[in-house]
Amino acid sequence: RKAQIGVTGLAVMGANLARNLARNGYTVALHNRSSEKTDALLEAHGSEGDFIRTETLQELVDSLESPRRILVMVKAGGPVDAVIDQLVPLLDKDDIIIDGGNSHFPDTIRREKDLAEKGLHFVGVGVSGGEEGALNGPSIMPGGSAKSYESVGPMLEKIAAKAEDGSPCCAWISTDGAGHFVKMVHNGIEYADMQVIGEAYDLMRSVANIEPAEQAEIFKQWNTTELSSYLIEITAEVLAQVDSKTGKPFIDVIVDQAGQKGTGRWTVQSALDLGAPITGIAESVFARALSSSNSAAREQAQKGFTDGLIATTGVATADPEFVEDVRRALFASKLVSYAQGMDMLSIAGKEYGWDLKLDTIASLWREGCIIRAELLAEIMEAYKDEAPANMLLAPAFNKLMEELVPSWRRVISKAVALGIPVPVFSSSLAYYDALRRDRLPAALIQGQRDYFGAHTYKRVDAEGDYHVMWSDDLREVNAEDAHV
Ligand code: NDP
Repeated sequence: RKAQIGVTGLAVMGANLARNLARNGYTVALHNRSSEKTDALLEAHGSEGDFIRTETLQELVDSLESPRRILVMVKAGGPVDAVIDQLVPLLDKDDIIIDGGNSHFPDTIRREKDLAEKGLHFVGVGVSGGEEGALNGPSIMPGGSAKSYESVGPMLEKIAAKAEDGSPCCAWISTDGAGHFVKMVHNGIEYADMQVIGEAYDLMRSVANIEPAEQAEIFKQWNTTELSSYLIEITAEVLAQVDSKTGKPFIDVIVDQAGQKGTGRWTVQSALDLGAPITGIAESVFARALSSSNSAAREQAQKGFTDGLIATTGVATADPEFVEDVRRALFASKLVSYAQGMDMLSIAGKEYGWDLKLDTIASLWREGCIIRAELLAEIMEAYKDEAPANMLLAPAFNKLMEELVPSWRRVISKAVALGIPVPVFSSSLAYYDALRRDRLPAALIQGQRDYFGAHTYKRVDAEGDYHVMWSDDLREVNAEDAHV
């Protein structure tokens, strides 16, 4: 018998995807660089489905039906190239290598091009949902050629999470690195989503003295509102946890320095290249960096910057109106994060030549992934027919924002007055306000740029580019005539 798909790299993600495939009726060939992981998987879960054990890549290749499908789940970066280099001489034309790890999309573009020249298919697949999702149904974002999707699509759709309407959270995104790009933006939104929840928690704790256990109940209740999402759900669980060693709230024994593996950083780096204004997402990445990069500075500043605002005026009792204001501010900021992510996708699609269907992408995030949320069904609707110029301008969201804005402003004013940092709440509001402002100080920046660098400016009342002879007689000249 031959296997329909092979998996190489059997750490948590690879092992769970292999099990998911086998549970769905596929014969799965297993391979890992060192065979301990293969044996451990077979021993613990070999009875779950039809597996073929292989020890070398040659054996893996020989065990597969043609055209071969090999899912590579090794450590992102160099190891993916190493495995590809070892596989290529063993493969035949039209075989398909699938990279389901967290690869950076420029690497995926490069690998796809290299392999296409060799007559092979390379499919970069974004997979979200962590270990649990990999086993029970992740959200899957495949790139690569449309032709290769004909072969791998049905399998991926089968193992993907299913949305409420039964449709799989997996669909072809677009060519080469598009799948990994979309997964990267997903992670950027995830960073912002987590940070705004953190800011809401901090405000309720610092302004209204609401203890973690009580907040757990609040988040549980919020999870029955339009905020309903996986991240709100797990926040309630984390806040309810009590440290077994000290009896303190679990959150109070965790060092307040956030880690990151790098996908959020990639999102921001890529946004800078694209000129995509994902301000909230960027602030959320920087908030993690600020928490952890210079603990000596934080320690000294706690003693050195002593305006003492929180201590003197911050304490108020839990007020239901304040809590509702925080909930609304959180929701508004969350909407902005998603709007920025969608905007970045739309800019990237044009830049990289990907025909990204934003409604489809939103639909894939409805289940299985970390940012799964009820909101995504509405985002999907908003992009269904004609894409709005910005997600917030879709009629449903436009109206919603109007309802949320007063609470949002009240909460941020309070935070600023009390000295509580709310970087994503406040930068999201600034983004919203900048979008709606009739005149931005960008006009002054254009004037300054023309002054020091003859960078020229456009007029509100005429076509063309202009320049003022700043160091001469202050005459305005047409840039073309003046050759600037
Ligand atoms: P790791 O990223 O920890 O990688 C370990 C696996 O890579 C092992 O099977 C290891 O083999 C193999 N490996 C490492 N270097 C090489 C090499 N040079 N040649 C061959 N094999 C090598 O595994 P995870 O399961 O945590 O993650 C796999 C991928 O999935 C990564 O890209 C990761 O970023 C991504 N990921 C995605 C998540 C998600 O939610 N989507 C969550 C976690 C990870 P050996 O046993 O021989 O050392």
